[in-house]
Amino acid sequence: MNERDSEAVAAQLVAKGYTLAKSEAVADVVLLNTCSVRDMAERKAINKMSNMIGIAKKERPNQVFGFMGCMAQSRGQELVDKLPDVDLVVGTQKFHRTADYLDEILAGRRDKIVDTAAEEKSEAAIREHLLNGNAQKSVSAFVSIMQGCNQYCTFCIVPYTRGEERSRTIDDIVTECRDLVSRGVKEITLLGQIVTSYGRREKRDEWRVTSGASASFPSPVTRHPSSPFVRLLEAVHEIPGLERIRFTSPHPKGYGDDLVDAYARLPKLCESAHIPVQSGSDRLLKIMHRGYTRERFLGIIEKLRRAKPGIGVSTDIIVGFPGETEEDFEQTLSLAREVEFDQAYIFKYSPRRDTPAADMPDQLPTSVKEERNERLLQLVNEIAARNYEKLVGTQVQILVEGPSKKNPARMMGRTRCNKIVVFDGSDRHRGQVMDVKITRAGSFTLYGEPDILE
Ligand code: SAM
Repeated sequence: MNERDSEAVAAQLVAKGYTLAKSEAVADVVLLNTCSVRDMAERKAINKMSNMIGIAKKERPNQVFGFMGCMAQSRGQELVDKLPDVDLVVGTQKFHRTADYLDEILAGRRDKIVDTAAEEKSEAAIREHLLNGNAQKSVSAFVSIMQGCNQYCTFCIVPYTRGEERSRTIDDIVTECRDLVSRGVKEITLLGQIVTSYGRREKRDEWRVTSGASASFPSPVTRHPSSPFVRLLEAVHEIPGLERIRFTSPHPKGYGDDLVDAYARLPKLCESAHIPVQSGSDRLLKIMHRGYTRERFLGIIEKLRRAKPGIGVSTDIIVGFPGETEEDFEQTLSLAREVEFDQAYIFKYSPRRDTPAADMPDQLPTSVKEERNERLLQLVNEIAARNYEKLVGTQVQILVEGPSKKNPARMMGRTRCNKIVVFDGSDRHRGQVMDVKITRAGSFTLYGEPDILE
């Protein structure tokens, strides 16, 4: 989500005549988009900013510095008090004001600007794309469908930094997606904190389809058995030329039968699901305020695998939540064994200010968090390696995205299940959907040979 927000701000600046600098050392303006989900991310951003300011004082006295995003939102003026050379602090509902604020600062009309106020309709302001950011055509794009979160998990700072859930209209999102496809994009990932809650808080009228993809759509007054999110998937699915649809992150509570059914019905919806589980212990899931049980989560995975055998499943897990006992943690290990995730992002619990969990008793020592992190990581890696190995010799369909990050001489694409495949190809293959035979499996990467190389 941060990458997407940063891209939109960069695109807004480019539209105003700015150009992207190769590095901060040659930039007139440096903006740091920040994350608050864990303390480490905040500390990194503050250290990076103070290092840059230290260098700029000696070498580039006119360089302008700004913080954007979640830490900017939660700390606001405090950041300028701590680092007086910071010129701009832009909160999460103000990304789209960045270009105007920079103009004012650069023209000398204002010295410092801190804006963390709420702004109505800001959820629809992240829409510009930098499709040729690397001077190469983008095949895949993120589209922000909503902002904020209302889940209030006891560990999570997001509802406080990103505000209440607010969704864009289907019409607005489809227009943005159509435009992306007309510019060569083949795959769209719909983005939100909890995408499965899309449109649930808005009045029915606000997410009706009024143009574009509306032709085969039920009128807004018709009772539709699907959730607004599934209706959005259906509307995006109708866009000609779009090959693949993904979304992140859903919440397990949003996996009703309508969504499971959408995987079976909508061929462009890739068979891959990133479903954050956080813990395998019912006791902890309750204290975390997650709103589902281990059994319900396992039931969802079972249904998804029945609807789409081989579906890629990944997750987020927190280890060392306050009061997590060895028994609770064993439950998480056993859940990981049972589900066999393709990938899991494992986080050591980090107390966040103003969240209920930060004040809970039995905060665990770092050594316990590290040890559990290591054990879980090892298990997830072992299972994933085994399952990746099973793909050797099979044929998979990939969408070619561009050169491999680790070895730019080779190309990379993704399977529909979201696994990375590296192969010998050339730039001509970018954007192509092609069949590849898997010859080798590495760590979370597959290596393959295209069936026919034109
Ligand atoms: N939509 C996601 C969900 O359903 O939970 C939330 C996305 S959150 C920004 C990304 C991940 O960060 C979470 O899934 C969680 O695993 C992790 N996270 C959030 N707060 C955390 C904390 N205080 N300490 C450690 N990890 C945390």
